[in-house]
Amino acid sequence: MIVLSVNAGSSSLKFQAFDMPEENVLISGTFERIGMKESFYTIKLNGEKIKKEVELKNHEKAFEILIEELLENKIVEKLDEIKAIGHRIVQGGPYFDKTAEMTDENMKKVKELSSLAPLHNPAAITGIKAAKNVVPNALQTGVFDTAFHQTIEDENYLYPVPFEWCEKYKVRKYGFHGTSHKYVAYRMNEILGRYNTKLITCHIGNGASIAAIKEGQCINTSMGLTPNAGLMMGSRCGDIDATVVTYMMQQLECTAEEMDTILNKQSGLLGISGVSSDSRDIEDGMKIGNPRCTLAQQMFTRRIIDHIAKYFVELGGCDAIVFTAGIGENSVHTRREVLDGLAALGIKIDEEANDCRGVERLITTEDSSIPCYIIPTNEELMIARDTYLLYQSKEKEKELVENEII
Ligand code: ADP
Repeated sequence: MIVLSVNAGSSSLKFQAFDMPEENVLISGTFERIGMKESFYTIKLNGEKIKKEVELKNHEKAFEILIEELLENKIVEKLDEIKAIGHRIVQGGPYFDKTAEMTDENMKKVKELSSLAPLHNPAAITGIKAAKNVVPNALQTGVFDTAFHQTIEDENYLYPVPFEWCEKYKVRKYGFHGTSHKYVAYRMNEILGRYNTKLITCHIGNGASIAAIKEGQCINTSMGLTPNAGLMMGSRCGDIDATVVTYMMQQLECTAEEMDTILNKQSGLLGISGVSSDSRDIEDGMKIGNPRCTLAQQMFTRRIIDHIAKYFVELGGCDAIVFTAGIGENSVHTRREVLDGLAALGIKIDEEANDCRGVERLITTEDSSIPCYIIPTNEELMIARDTYLLYQSKEKEKELVENEII
């Protein structure tokens, strides 16, 4: 059965078509500059990448082309063969603790949460509406970045601010990258061969977060109300003294929006190094002796080490630590610095094993107190899996109703 996994941004739309439950990727692609001049899309099929320049007036047009490509490339023969489409949604707020069908009622909730994710939720809604118009008979699901973190207890998700801020304004920790943390935690448990585990999963990309996971359930994570919390990131500051914000707004005489841009786009690795938000550029800068790049990298790894140590205590021990996402999967240097910084816990890096990129691998020695792994993430597959499971359970329900068992 064909399941589409879709990630719609304000001017882009990424997709992958999976054959489920086998989990084979049949075709994937990205539509870019939707609603802008010089729009185009790229398709990956049978190891080949094709780029086509075409006018993409809106997301619906992108979906129409997507379906044409599926038909032309014989991924499907008829539209009806696409049984389900899973959409990535960044903010599910307190409403969604799992993947849900995108009914009109649920769409309203996603829209209501737009004030908490102004760049992302409206884009997802546009994508879902376009998919519904073009493939009306498919099950449309929303897979939320926040859902996996909904098991976090109130003492961990509340901020020590006036209590009614949470009730009235929904101000609390939601956490993000949930689909990725869930995917790598599941895979880690598969490798360990048991599920009663305590894991610390580190999704370290341009955006970065860490999660503490006990028996498959998230008990804490580093991102918060928004993704700008916890770790230092490519261009986000992460956790800082909240009063820095109001103090600097007075000093710079800037608006809340301008301050938000500085903290999200001009801080982190970029803000400290003055060079780049990209960890490869920081590593290059270090190689030529740029002291600000060295400082940025030290601050970056310091915060990862601190969070791992904190979650080790919170979990009461740890069975495995996982590195994933762009930096976690590829930066030999960052992983080494983090693991060396955890030596006090008895963690011992295997230098030879760590000298690799983008592969699933154990990177600590046999006598390390905690085994540490690289597990490449696959959010698209997780979206397809969840969507497939929801489709199966809806079909089962229909069958029971038809047979008058319910
Ligand atoms: P996001 O999805 O948050 O945009 P990614 O997970 O794609 O981010 O990660 C992007 C980061 O991964 C960038 O900082 C990039 O420099 C880093 N990265 C990718 N490849 C390498 C590499 N070979 N060495 C070091 N860093 C890398």
